[in-house]
Amino acid sequence: MWRVEEKSPPQRTQRSTEGTDPRQALTKAFRINKAQGLRFNTGVRMTMIDREKLKIKRQREEMQFMAEHPQSAKLYERAQNSLLGGVPMNWMKKWAGPYPVFVKHAKGAHFKCVDGHEYVDLCLGDTGAMTGHSPDVVVEAVAKRAKDGITLMLPTEDALYVGEDLKKRFGLPCWQFTLTATDANRFSIRIAREITQRPKVLIFHYCYHGTVDESFASLHDGLVGPRRGNIGPPVNPAETTHVVEFNDLNALEETLKHHDVACILAEPAMTNVGIILPEQGYWKAARELARRYGALLIADETHTICAGPGGCTAEWHLEPDMLVFGKAIGSGIPGAAYGCTEEVAQRIAARIQLEDCDVGGIGGTLAGNALSLAAMRATLEHVLTAKNFKKMIALAVRFNEGVSSAIKNGGLPWNVQRLGCRAEYTFCAKPPRNGGESAAAADFELERFLHLYALNRGVLLTPFHNMALMCPETTEGDIDRHTGIFSEAVAELTNRPRFGG
Ligand code: PMP
Repeated sequence: MWRVEEKSPPQRTQRSTEGTDPRQALTKAFRINKAQGLRFNTGVRMTMIDREKLKIKRQREEMQFMAEHPQSAKLYERAQNSLLGGVPMNWMKKWAGPYPVFVKHAKGAHFKCVDGHEYVDLCLGDTGAMTGHSPDVVVEAVAKRAKDGITLMLPTEDALYVGEDLKKRFGLPCWQFTLTATDANRFSIRIAREITQRPKVLIFHYCYHGTVDESFASLHDGLVGPRRGNIGPPVNPAETTHVVEFNDLNALEETLKHHDVACILAEPAMTNVGIILPEQGYWKAARELARRYGALLIADETHTICAGPGGCTAEWHLEPDMLVFGKAIGSGIPGAAYGCTEEVAQRIAARIQLEDCDVGGIGGTLAGNALSLAAMRATLEHVLTAKNFKKMIALAVRFNEGVSSAIKNGGLPWNVQRLGCRAEYTFCAKPPRNGGESAAAADFELERFLHLYALNRGVLLTPFHNMALMCPETTEGDIDRHTGIFSEAVAELTNRPRFGG
């Protein structure tokens, strides 16, 4: 069962579900005075941010960035001739500087750019390198496997080790492999649809599960429609998807009552719109509801693996029907896994015909290849260990303490949350309880200033919201460096002395 019992996550107490409309909450909590360019929390004496000053400071940071990154500028200019938008993947446009930093070398928690600057990497490839860049043991295993055959569409013994390890970590007995977490989610959804013979996927407002068509939906005045920025939706996502707010059991039950939900696809704690923790008892009740109404629960642990070696599923004793784990599983060598219960395995086996198994819409030529499996084995055996998690989590606690003190010192209505070795600050006084609340507190301009400020001083944050991740090689010195920089930025924004002198 997906429940939170013996060992509870660091949850907040259950609030009434009344008045949770994010727009209402926003109107109550904030007034945005566009004329003066101020954002403030009413009723509390909080520091205001002068938007004009923010703009000028951002321009100053951009000038500094350009002065210090001439080689990256040259490469970016050359890239315009062959790469769409001048980058190999469109998200790389989102970095806070006028162009991305081109990388020369990365190891552990650090990397060096082509202009010779060294950085503390708190983005870690948006979790793909949560293991640290190029761990020696994985590099050795991958080099050996590359010499011995990369892909054959035949199994190697490493696959068995990985399956057995995942079974122990997450408590699910049957595993399959893909190249990306996106694919693992897509295949899990297909399986859920097939065995339940139901059409719809239920997701949470502002979730992210990869480029899965069914998950690019959001609520608009209570109705489901394409999420902002959805490029070329194949159909109106309202046809495929139900969307509800996280931590709202009434909304979940009302939706499940349609009896058309094949699966709930969820991160046990939301991580892609800030960190949003489940309220006490939420998953226990949600698990029961899913069972009562015949929907499967798919836990996407791709990011929430940060909670510990077995993700939130092991930490909080959840019992999903299916589970997805990608990105860090092979230290960044492409690979992902999805697992299921014995019951799901039997139901799917009963429906797959041998003759059609290669054209049914799950699997892929390179999925489960020997190289990915060698990387996964070395990563699981030697890197994503309980010992390393203990260290990484302590660093995230240190990160939060530093950021929290700086926020307090600056009198800013911001908060900082943590899930295992992942930390994140949000521009609202209290931790948001759902995607709508968190998205309402986003401030793209402010976010970009803070990220560029950190980058110019040698610290890389994730370009999506304000996430920082620890790897086994991250040091206390790296964290304190970030705290110092963040404190300086806060001091500049608030005209108050810097936290820590
Ligand atoms: N699930 C979650 C929770 C994610 O955050 C992401 C990517 N950010 C994915 C799945 C998809 O991962 P990939 O892009 O590697 O397919």
